[in-house]
Amino acid sequence: MYDYLIVGAGIFGAVFAREMTDQGKRCLVIDKSSHIAGHIYTEAVEGIQVHVYGAHIFHTSDKEIWEYVNRFTTFNHFINSPLAIYKDELFNLPFNMNTFHQMWGCKTPKEAKEIIDKQTEQLKDTDPTNLEEQAIKLVGPDIYEKLINGYTEKQWGRACKDLPAFIIKRLPVRFIYDNNYFNDRYQGIPENGYTSMIEHMLEGIEVRLNTDYYAVRDQEEFRAKKTLFTGMIDEYYNYCFGELEYRSLRFDTKIIDEENFQGNAVINYTEREIPYTRIIEHKHFAFGKQPKTVVTYEYPATWKTGDEPYYPVNNEKNDALYERYKELGEKENNIIFGGRLGQYKYYDMDKVVRAALHLVNEVSEKANSADI
Ligand code: UDP
Repeated sequence: MYDYLIVGAGIFGAVFAREMTDQGKRCLVIDKSSHIAGHIYTEAVEGIQVHVYGAHIFHTSDKEIWEYVNRFTTFNHFINSPLAIYKDELFNLPFNMNTFHQMWGCKTPKEAKEIIDKQTEQLKDTDPTNLEEQAIKLVGPDIYEKLINGYTEKQWGRACKDLPAFIIKRLPVRFIYDNNYFNDRYQGIPENGYTSMIEHMLEGIEVRLNTDYYAVRDQEEFRAKKTLFTGMIDEYYNYCFGELEYRSLRFDTKIIDEENFQGNAVINYTEREIPYTRIIEHKHFAFGKQPKTVVTYEYPATWKTGDEPYYPVNNEKNDALYERYKELGEKENNIIFGGRLGQYKYYDMDKVVRAALHLVNEVSEKANSADI
């Protein structure tokens, strides 16, 4: 019998498995997919590491987490500086002096602030209750219309008024000329891809792929004292309180016979009429010089049961529903839920690693006090 059955070989499961194995526990990791690494899976195509389930850029301000992931890979010096195309205009992101110059022709922070202040004057003392109000209060209606509204409504499949404000707070607003999408101290992409990083985390640990938990959970050979489950918590409980909502994605990936297709790793298409949200040119995440290039058009998609879930939709209704599932989960003795799907949370990778390490401590402390 195993100490831990870990369901899902994504980053949460891999960190948990690594730590528990290092504490002398016997772990088995299973995944229904044919590969490890979950949604951060990368594979080489034409010598280029392709982010098969969408682009992932590791960024963190947490030194301990940065050092932790660096045990398993070397990160390159990639800095994410996406562009946004709206009709025939091109803008820098995140919202910074370059964007303000492109939008209004202003050159100094003072000028930019004056324009934004004027555009947001009536909202000064209001408390935004949804994404639309939050966005307009932050950067004014011009930027909202050209760079936020269409993109967000495509991405989430609902009106900005019906989305939580926190989503837009992920994006920095800066009054300096700085196109770095993140404010974090550390940033990069694993030099040999994310799959290799997860492979190193799972070194020496038993992994079984193409293995569906629901199909094998009653089998003797998969028995464990405890299970860490990183799949969808509502599915685990047979949707007994109803379905949580997710957002899905569809990726259209092509090899193009030219060296440089768009000149940047990420270009967002912010107008509503274009059905994809962004085009990713994978080689630019790694400064690639290959003769060909691989690009992915990312189409947001409605999620329905059975589809691949990518984003939890953390609005009030879903969060309240999740709380009910969470309560059920907390009553369990032998199963723990973790990760973006198990905890129904729009997590960045560094937060996932942090949460997995936190869970390891929590579980180990409980086990130690039980021994006493
Ligand atoms: N966003 C936007 N315009 C953009 C890029 C992002 O309005 O050009 C908003 C949108 O609401 C999106 C959110 O910012 O859902 C977060 O974007 P991010 O790029 O962080 O999302 P992720 O990479 O996780 O999909």
